Amino acid sequence: MKLILKFCSYILSLKSISVAKKVIGYFKSISLTANTLLFLTCCYIALILNIPFLIKVTNAITNLDDYSVLFLLSLPIFLLSLIIILQGVISFRWIIKPTLITTVLCSSLIFYGTITYGIVFDYGMVQNTIETDTAEALSYVNLYAALFFIVFGVIPSLIIYAVQLNYKPLFQELLSRAKLFALSITAIALISSFFYSDYAAVGRNNKDLIGYIIPYKMVDASFKFARNHYFYPPLEFKVLDTAPLIERANQRKHVTVMVLGETARAQSFSLNGYEKPTNQYTEKQGVVSFSNMSSCGTATAVSVPCMFSRLDKNNYNKREATAQQNVVDLIHLAGTDVLWISNNNGSCKGVCTRVKTEKVDTNKVNPLCDGEYCFDEALLAPLSKKLSKLTHENTLIVLHMIGSHGPTYFKRYPKDKQLFMPDCQRSDIQNCTQEQLINTYDNTIAYTDLVLSKVIDKLSLLAKKENIETSLLYISDHGESLGESGVYLHGLPYAFAPKEQTHIPMIYWTDPMQTDFDLGCLNSLAKSPISHDNVFDTLLSIMSVKTKVYNSKNDSFIQCKSQGAIVRTNIPITLQDVDFSKSRKGSLQGID
Ligand SMILES: [Zn+2]
Repeated sequence: MKLILKFCSYILSLKSISVAKKVIGYFKSISLTANTLLFLTCCYIALILNIPFLIKVTNAITNLDDYSVLFLLSLPIFLLSLIIILQGVISFRWIIKPTLITTVLCSSLIFYGTITYGIVFDYGMVQNTIETDTAEALSYVNLYAALFFIVFGVIPSLIIYAVQLNYKPLFQELLSRAKLFALSITAIALISSFFYSDYAAVGRNNKDLIGYIIPYKMVDASFKFARNHYFYPPLEFKVLDTAPLIERANQRKHVTVMVLGETARAQSFSLNGYEKPTNQYTEKQGVVSFSNMSSCGTATAVSVPCMFSRLDKNNYNKREATAQQNVVDLIHLAGTDVLWISNNNGSCKGVCTRVKTEKVDTNKVNPLCDGEYCFDEALLAPLSKKLSKLTHENTLIVLHMIGSHGPTYFKRYPKDKQLFMPDCQRSDIQNCTQEQLINTYDNTIAYTDLVLSKVIDKLSLLAKKENIETSLLYISDHGESLGESGVYLHGLPYAFAPKEQTHIPMIYWTDPMQTDFDLGCLNSLAKSPISHDNVFDTLLSIMSVKTKVYNSKNDSFIQCKSQGAIVRTNIPITLQDVDFSKSRKGSLQGID
């Protein structure tokens, strides 16, 4: 990686502009046939921009006990032939240059993401990219990204633009393209006939590899995303329960704060055994940390709607989930006052559409904000305001944090909260040392812990002063890779995502007044495996909401619930009229 960046800097340090002009002038004097330009560009895409794919497959092959060198050598030829066919189908006369340039520019960006952060541009990543906002997108822009894009995207594109194309009559052009296709197909057929079983075995055992073919996986995923979001008619909204109820043991007011975390991974919590003191505040507050929790997805766009949905991880798809009540809707419909406060770009991924929402204003007037982002302590003021004016017997406040969102981790905590030093004060995190990177990330976790402890302090005070029962549930959306095995950030396809991206923290706290749950019992269960699939029913349980779609088998707290609470909120199972977890057939698959 560093070598590539040095190469980029070197290229750009060459009296850039005058040299660029000369280079373009030189290429303008070159005349090529359309097929030669197509062939050369495909060579560049296959052999340079697909280096991550070629390395991954080479590693998979050389890790086998026995492999043929010829099989290994056939790989780049196979890939090149495939790319010539795919690119050749869409690259004709008037559009050959625009299509080749578009492919090269997009591929260079994916090449950067893959080689720098280990990112795979599959369906989930396309969804993340489309749903991201300007501030988040800009957090990935830095000098190295720009250099990389110029060297591997812009300069080759300028060359394609500059060369003269020498068109033959249409029939000859078609004949020439047919010959190129025939040659490519013959190469593929020959390689397949010799090494079919080798390719099949490597492909079967390494299903993730196809995701690294640049840019065709992204094109495929973009097509599916566009089809699912823009070309299918919306589903009719499905009401899961028209009459959920709140069944409490007493007349006291109840307030629950659910803190929705961002990019926090379980292994970085000292509550879960991490050696650095990242939970020094909440450790003293008697919280229960569920240390074996896993996420539904590896990105916000999947995990957030999934955890609040009646659909479980295996059956989740966004289209279906957004067309039915989620757990927040049911809690609200039962009579709870629900407020969703966001410090996460104001997006709740469709979960808060039908409840009251507030977005933390990022204006610089607030010393906790920089105009684009706010530190999570900015959530405390609107929380205090809400707690001072409770209008209902039951209140649920969701605080959606910015948490540990990367790669600009250093922007997630104030300077005076730098607990671990030296940290990494830049967005091109791959150029920080591992120690700096880990310190920066740990600072975000320690800061999240500080914010959680301040929320607990507020709830504790409310409980004591006003005799209100309070509780807090903190759950992260997904984890984060910090350079383990060369992978950074998150969003890898779940099937082969490392546990750093899927093993997440969950914390529960309640004031001593409550009688619904036995905290000692919850502590004894804290190491049991649970997942986002349990959030729907556990949250119903905490909120004492009785609904026909409650499934006690998914309620992580049920073993520790008092008999009274169980009787109050359990409906004898009548789930036959609720088809919430079946029927994949006919539905759209959101993530492939
Ligand atoms: Zn997220």
